[in-house]
Amino acid sequence: MGSGKVTSSEPLDWQGKHVTVAGLGVSGIPAAKVLHGLGARVTVVNDGDDARAREQAAELEALGITVRLGDGSTLPEGTGLVVTAPGWKPDKPLFTAARAAGLEIWGDVELAWRLRGPDAAPWLAVTGTNGKTTTVQMLASILKAAGLRTAAVGNIGVSLLDAVLGDEEYDVLAVELSSYQLHWAPSLRAHSAAVLNLAPDHLDWHGSMEAYAADKGRIYEGNRVACVYNVADKATEDLVREADVEEGCRAIGFTLGTPGPSQLGVVEGILVDRAFVENRQKNAQELAEVSDVNPPAPHNIANALAAAALARAFGVPAKAVRDGLRAFTPDAHRIAHVADVDGVAYIDDSKATNTHAAEASLAAYESIVWIAGGLAKGATFDELVAKSAKRLRGVVLIGADRALIREALARHAPEVPVVDLDRTDTGAMLAAVQEARRLSTAGDTVLLAPACASMDMFANYNKRGDAFAEAVRELGAGA
Ligand code: ADP
Repeated sequence: MGSGKVTSSEPLDWQGKHVTVAGLGVSGIPAAKVLHGLGARVTVVNDGDDARAREQAAELEALGITVRLGDGSTLPEGTGLVVTAPGWKPDKPLFTAARAAGLEIWGDVELAWRLRGPDAAPWLAVTGTNGKTTTVQMLASILKAAGLRTAAVGNIGVSLLDAVLGDEEYDVLAVELSSYQLHWAPSLRAHSAAVLNLAPDHLDWHGSMEAYAADKGRIYEGNRVACVYNVADKATEDLVREADVEEGCRAIGFTLGTPGPSQLGVVEGILVDRAFVENRQKNAQELAEVSDVNPPAPHNIANALAAAALARAFGVPAKAVRDGLRAFTPDAHRIAHVADVDGVAYIDDSKATNTHAAEASLAAYESIVWIAGGLAKGATFDELVAKSAKRLRGVVLIGADRALIREALARHAPEVPVVDLDRTDTGAMLAAVQEARRLSTAGDTVLLAPACASMDMFANYNKRGDAFAEAVRELGAGA
């Protein structure tokens, strides 16, 4: 008699299996529908019980799926597998009970991985604290330039489940994976994978930096062709060393400096490959020019090199790397050039929601009036300010946790003029831009790179960036 459990050691058979889906949300609802369609008995459990949840529950119940609202903690009787939304914390009682019962717990990525067909497209996977979306989009653009059928999927764009089960056929997928998703994806085995960088983030969820790094490192497990790491970030290389990979899989570094053998890097303004070439001790292959990367900020060149490394690991020719990078345009609010007013460039990097991202952004310009502040999420700003001090011509602070930045500026950049707007209303952005204009002179860059989350003042970072762009336009109109 079967145990009713779904286990990794047996072929998938959903008949008579009871799957509990944790979370009514962007991943939970499609997961529940797919599993129900495959013949499993599905119960969705959800902590919330508001009007929206009831509406969603009614839709699922009409299909024959059981939904339990208001209790996401108790494991339903007879559960043979738990499929969870990636954001659910591993220490939830539901999971403790599942583990005690010897059940497997899959996230959305694991589910897609397990449900993919026998001829499924291989995955080129990307994670990191910052730069994931950009890199995956660059990668998809390069793969397309090579004539491959592909899509940027995962944490962005097409959902993985759709990519794996839909009618569209792919040769290869460019997959963005968050640390949460990796935590819940124990059997994922990518063709090749990259960890772009590792800085403390989401530590409350993972419990510690070690646990966070370990979850990121799972992306390398079982890689077949290449584990791509950042030469400038030793932690990423350590993860490669610890990973259990397929025989013959190579460690490939990317660097903004001159590449050694088995690395991609930059020589005199050219992106070059010394990894996927004949005789890599002596030879290098030119891939693209730095000016082909949009925007050509250092961190973004690093992203381009990582994308190129994964594409090259998949056998893509050098020309497609250049064409793909040229065809790529970044998403909004990522170092977007809004306008020049009186010889000052106004740049929107509202997506720089943590200090690591803001540091990369600030490193891209020489003389900056920096607009910063918002919700710090427990971050400290000393390192960021100390590293960036020499580039700062002035600073304008907004948002709830601005005092933390002000204090760091007082410690590490006491000579830099600071305007503390002491405001958290949405209209403060216009005042911030006006102050920034006052502090700047021709040749400077006014950079919105808040190093903080936006929710104290705006619905999200998009709205924050929009408010900035709007304020700059008003400035331009009045100039
Ligand atoms: P993610 O998907 O990881 O959030 P994005 O590509 O959306 O990354 O970029 C988010 C922000 O992180 C950007 O606005 C930029 O400020 C910063 N960033 C992008 N790439 C890097 C990188 N390689 N290193 C550090 N910061 C980066």
